[in-house]
Amino acid sequence: MDKVELNNVNAEDEKVSKNFIEQIVEKDLADGLNGGRIQTRFPPEPNGYLHIGHAKAICMDFGIARNYGGTCNLRFDDTNPVKEDTEYVDSIQEDIKWLGFQWNNIYYASDYFDKLYELAIRFIKEGKAYVDEQSAEEIAAQKGTPTQPGTNSPFRDRPIEENLELFEKMNRGEIEDGRMVLRAKIDMAHSNMHFRDPIMYRIITTHPHHRTGTKWKVYPMYDFAHGQSDYFEGVTHSLCTLEFEVHRPLYDYFLDQFATPDYRPKQREFNRLNITYTVMSKRKMLALVKEGLVRGWDDPRMPTICGLRRRGYTPESIRNFINRIGYTKYEALNDVSLLEASIREDLKPKAYRVCAVMDPIRLVIDNYTGDGEMVQIENNPEDENAGMRDVRFGRELWIERGDFREEADKNFFRLSPGGREVRLKGGYIIQAVGCEKDAEGNVTTVHATYDPESKSGTEGGNRKVKSTINWVECQTALDAEVRFYDRLFTEENPAAYEGDFREILNPESLKIVSDAKVEAFLGNAKKGDKFQFLKTGYFNTDDDTVPGKLVFNLTVSLKEQKK
Ligand code: ATP
Ligand code: MG
Repeated sequence: MDKVELNNVNAEDEKVSKNFIEQIVEKDLADGLNGGRIQTRFPPEPNGYLHIGHAKAICMDFGIARNYGGTCNLRFDDTNPVKEDTEYVDSIQEDIKWLGFQWNNIYYASDYFDKLYELAIRFIKEGKAYVDEQSAEEIAAQKGTPTQPGTNSPFRDRPIEENLELFEKMNRGEIEDGRMVLRAKIDMAHSNMHFRDPIMYRIITTHPHHRTGTKWKVYPMYDFAHGQSDYFEGVTHSLCTLEFEVHRPLYDYFLDQFATPDYRPKQREFNRLNITYTVMSKRKMLALVKEGLVRGWDDPRMPTICGLRRRGYTPESIRNFINRIGYTKYEALNDVSLLEASIREDLKPKAYRVCAVMDPIRLVIDNYTGDGEMVQIENNPEDENAGMRDVRFGRELWIERGDFREEADKNFFRLSPGGREVRLKGGYIIQAVGCEKDAEGNVTTVHATYDPESKSGTEGGNRKVKSTINWVECQTALDAEVRFYDRLFTEENPAAYEGDFREILNPESLKIVSDAKVEAFLGNAKKGDKFQFLKTGYFNTDDDTVPGKLVFNLTVSLKEQKK
């Protein structure tokens, strides 16, 4: 079958071997299942922002449709008005598009509330559902265990008429929340616990629904809504994560009650994405945001799509990462360094190299008398078309404090009075001659002399010295705030931590340098522009950047962080 190209998604996503879901789909196509039609859906609940785990599901759902000439719809699984909001509906759409995917249609599980209600009524009339008046605790206590059967509810055999009447009352708002539920009447001794009379409907009157308002007082549970929604839409492959594997027989059971022989959706499961040193649960992320433990859903430390975007991740880097880790049938924990390698790889040939000084001290070149001289710096040595740019040089420069030592041994290759010669990036060779200090003994200014014959790009520029340092010319330098991020959690697998996840938050996950000096070129940086700060790492221009105030986020260091 020909591959269908989707906008934005380039050849870098292509790979050679097929994953097991693709193999299933190819077999189904070969068998002519569902008339050879392929339809998938991405079904987020609009109760939070998408995270990189969702990106894994998105790449699968949209990727299958793209690669096999099918369609993929976005379906909001909006069956619980208590937690859902249009803010999330909007952000989810933005993030999917940013990742490079486009749905065919947008649907809502709430579009099917009428049909689902009718189906529930039909189940009641056929003696396959009943209204239970027990509390959640009582119902749970009767569930049994995987090895012990459950106990029938005392309301299990109430007459059909009574069930109908009560269910209608539930939906008229005449019954208090939590007082009654509608349960499927299947088998309290079933070996699969999900068959032990699962709840189909519960009452929610406290929160209006973001789309249906107060029309409904009862809302369907996941197991009753999901498969049916798939069916109503014409989904052929309902792809989800492994925790739903045990729900699959129930998914099939409900379909058995009404599906026609010529069409039937099929649920298949793949492993969730888990990444070291972070959490992948919307509930925990919501807590981090609500409790102010991070600066918002798009805090660059968050594994959300908007957080990664603000951090400086590109859609390509995320898709490549997902592609590399692949899809399996067993759970795993992926090393965050793989994700970091992916963004490094993506930015290396794209990001301009610029000079930025994080802990500045002044360098004065005593014998330099020039004014307004320009030197040239390569924009990107990885890209031959990137060219050079003119950078203002001068007698006074900002350099990194760490590039100077008043007393240095022979293993120190940078500036030290009477020590080695050092090249200023793109400029001249200098040698330190002394320094000035403040009352506390901190170095404030380094004095040096330069070799006028040593300018880079001239013949004398070929003279080699052991090290090159970065600098920013003082008169034209711009102030910048630079935010350095580290892992959000101190534990490799926060989900496995037995205590409260707040206890293992990394107190050092954000460090702000508020007085960095950057070269004038960055004055044009716009939100989202990405640079390599020489010798430091890749940085993204933060959304907080406004005219006159530059803010940069560390996306990733140049080299892999030591464990
Ligand atoms: P959470 O547990 O964080 O609330 P969820 O599974 O409830 O996540 P949904 O909005 O229901 O979130 O998920 C939409 C789709 O994304 C589902 O098909 C789900 O299987 C998939 N998904 C969610 N988390 C991950 C993950 N970590 N890795 C891969 N797929 C995921
Ligand atoms: Mg869910």
